[in-house]
Amino acid sequence: MSFAENKPAESGTPEQRAQMIVEPLSKLGARYDAAPVFPVESVKLLRDAGLLRSFAPPDAGGDAFPDRHARYASMMDVLRIVGRGDLSVGRLYEGHVNALLLFDWFATTGQLAVLRQQLKEGALFGVWATEPPPGVRLVGADDGWTMEGAKSFATGAGGLSYAIVTAQSSHGPRRLVIAKADEAARTDLSQWRMRGMRATGSGIYDLGGMAVAPDALLGQGGDYDREPDFTTGAWRFTAVQLGGIEALLAETRAAMTMVAREDPLQRAKFADAVVAARSAYLWVRECAARAAAGHQDGPAFARMTRGVVERAALDVMEYASRIIGTRSAIDGQRIDKIIRDLSVYLRQAGPDYAKDQAAIAWIDHDVWGSGDALW
Ligand SMILES: Cc1cc2nc3c(=O)[nH]c(=O)nc-3n(C[C@H](O)[C@H](O)[C@H](O)COP(=O)(O)OP(=O)(O)OC[C@H]3O[C@@H](n4cnc5c(N)ncnc54)[C@H](O)[C@@H]3O)c2cc1C
Repeated sequence: MSFAENKPAESGTPEQRAQMIVEPLSKLGARYDAAPVFPVESVKLLRDAGLLRSFAPPDAGGDAFPDRHARYASMMDVLRIVGRGDLSVGRLYEGHVNALLLFDWFATTGQLAVLRQQLKEGALFGVWATEPPPGVRLVGADDGWTMEGAKSFATGAGGLSYAIVTAQSSHGPRRLVIAKADEAARTDLSQWRMRGMRATGSGIYDLGGMAVAPDALLGQGGDYDREPDFTTGAWRFTAVQLGGIEALLAETRAAMTMVAREDPLQRAKFADAVVAARSAYLWVRECAARAAAGHQDGPAFARMTRGVVERAALDVMEYASRIIGTRSAIDGQRIDKIIRDLSVYLRQAGPDYAKDQAAIAWIDHDVWGSGDALW
């Protein structure tokens, strides 16, 4: 079915269109948090706002930006604005944007034409790399490949249209495969009983026996792991997390009692929360700029940014709880939902390793570099 026909007219920049759906995303988010199923209506909001298409390669219908920097600056704002509305939908959207970038970098002309049509039909994509051992393997030969194995933490399992999945080939580095992601029989959400990020439905998706046509292979072996884009790409989830931090700060401000507002001790906590949120913003912004530039120290920046944003989120969560008190923990309150979502979303792969690798890079050389104008 095509979603394009009934779509309202898109107008304004992607950031303006994202801003217009923050409030409805937040309202729907409360509902999908209470009864977690795939957030169909929230995704429809993204689709109707044209945001599923905005960051597609231009040949697949993406918006035109003056240059890569402008595109990444817009991407950063849209990711954080969507994250402000609802972190689960932000995670789904971040996966979609990641997939669009992989198409941009590695797709053939034919694959871009198919993508263009799929996006017209309203397709939502994701990227699934995490897997339980022994991982997903490509078996067979050039005349017919199939996959074996499953993905875990597969955001949107059963609800996305397609996922780009990593699969180990028997000869050479891992490949990327464009796989259908909406098959209920392959989906297992039974273990996704989480405190937060419930609507992401990040369950298990069994790829066993799925046929892989030659045009379902994206790029060449090892493309997914190519640096600096692979590691620097972490900036995108930090942008969504930042949106959650900013939303938490805004909710805290709104919920502050008159007594708290007039108390210098409470104001001092609020000031520290503002500093934490804005400092995280500056790191994410620089990281996005370095990603846009394909900067060689992008990976070190992204690894350090992950820790900065995690620390800021933990601090703002604590300040919000202390400023607002028990009201911050009431079921159904937005502050409670954001804190629960953030506490789960912050758990990303190898945080200690990431910080250590960043430290090694900084010890090795001057990662700040010449400070060339990045924007
Ligand atoms: C909401 C959500 C959605 C997600 N969606 C996706 C998705 O769509 N696609 C996808 O591919 N992935 C997804 N992920 C997975 C994500 O990328 C990470 O793989 C996952 O969150 C890591 O979880 P963990 O904290 O349990 O990791 P672990 O790696 O088990 O880390 C737990 C702790 O163990 C430590 N540790 C781990 N390994 C070592 C080691 N070798 N030596 C020393 N210490 C170690 C870590 O530093 C950390 O402190 C998602 C995760 C979340 C939370």
